[in-house]
Amino acid sequence: MSQRILNVALEGDTDVVLVRQRARQVSKLLGFAKQDQVRIATAVSEVARAACHGGCNARAVFVLADGHARQQLEVTVSAGGVEAAGSEAAAIVDQALVTAHRLMDGCVRDEGAGFAVRMRKALPPQAPVSPTLLAQIATELAATPASNSYEEMQQQNRELVETLAELRERQEDLLELTRELEDTNRGIVALYAEIEDKAERLRRADEMKSRFLSNTSHELRTPLSSIRALSKLLLDRMDGELTPEQERQVYLIERTATEMSELVNDLLDLAKIEAGRVEAQGAPVVVENLFRALKGMMRPLVDGERVELVFDNAVEETFESDEGMLSQILRNFISNALKFTEQGSVRVSAERDEASDTLRFAVTDTGIGIDAEHLQLIFEEFTQVENPLQRRSKGTGLGLPLCRRLAELLGGRVDVTSRPGVGSTFVLTLPRHLPPPPDNA
Ligand code: ADP
Repeated sequence: MSQRILNVALEGDTDVVLVRQRARQVSKLLGFAKQDQVRIATAVSEVARAACHGGCNARAVFVLADGHARQQLEVTVSAGGVEAAGSEAAAIVDQALVTAHRLMDGCVRDEGAGFAVRMRKALPPQAPVSPTLLAQIATELAATPASNSYEEMQQQNRELVETLAELRERQEDLLELTRELEDTNRGIVALYAEIEDKAERLRRADEMKSRFLSNTSHELRTPLSSIRALSKLLLDRMDGELTPEQERQVYLIERTATEMSELVNDLLDLAKIEAGRVEAQGAPVVVENLFRALKGMMRPLVDGERVELVFDNAVEETFESDEGMLSQILRNFISNALKFTEQGSVRVSAERDEASDTLRFAVTDTGIGIDAEHLQLIFEEFTQVENPLQRRSKGTGLGLPLCRRLAELLGGRVDVTSRPGVGSTFVLTLPRHLPPPPDNA
């Protein structure tokens, strides 16, 4: 539904000035903000000027239109004979329509006979204009006749000055923003350079660490092997009888040398993997055989009276992996499980997961368990959790980091779940086919 507000006849240039004034008055009374008042006044006066230029009987009708989400001010400028007025008038009409499009929410030119352009702008979000208020607006419009064109010119000048000042302010804001952005950019570029520098230094340090570990471990291995071999000769009485005290001391030397060899071996393995010098060698693996071999290897560690070691295989077919690495990971899990379990069982199982086409090896114990806060830490080098069993059992804190790296080389991963006082489960998930080694080039 539409309610008429005002009707302005447009007979000449003075009426164009007048309709501009009226447009500003109407939009002000309807509650439009200052800037929107100027937009509406400019759009209406431009279209009115085009209508007056080549047409006759031109007029502008202001109405308040309901039926939209918000009430709208609708202004229709119409005239006769504009079509016949030639190309110059057509160009002015086109220009006016472009302006109106830009300044209003909508602007359509009716295709019917004569010239009619309908422009609309939604009222600001406020209480709707009631018929009573509209009547008041009409009374007010009648009471404030349009002033003369000199005043309108002054008004337009004022608007122009205000717009220019506003533009200058925005330009300054933009300049300030650009300066800030440039500073930020410069900061980011500097940070990048620093990060790249640090990354390069870290890479070099890492390389040096791997080289150092690899060299020293290698150098340590030979003397340690000699110490172990010589202690064994002594213990085997190859060089004559030993007193009980001598036997105890040589035994201690042999045990310490063995522990050091284990540490050195783990260090060397880790260093080699980190230097990218280890590659998994794929071959068919039969889980049954793997478990049998593990059982044999772990037997010396099992104290059958307190803890039983159970193997539980549900995988019948062969799969492809590096059996040496796989066995190393499981040995580590099992020896840890035996170390940290005083009573109960250590269960080693294998099963196939059809959905992800993977094999899942799990080592579950009924041991002391691991606090949630330590679950990720234990995969970091040299980390051991403080507990009474820890002191009794030796260890390097390198086993699990090594397991994680080895699992990655096999294209798989290692996970752990645990409950303190109840037990832990270490899981190795492997693909059924060994993936090709990553391209290090
Ligand atoms: P190490 O066994 O030589 O100390 P690991 O890297 O194999 O080194 O293990 C790190 C630590 O994780 C162990 O010292 C122990 O505190 C904890 N841990 C590993 N496995 C278990 C387990 N099955 N139960 C309880 N704690 C464990």
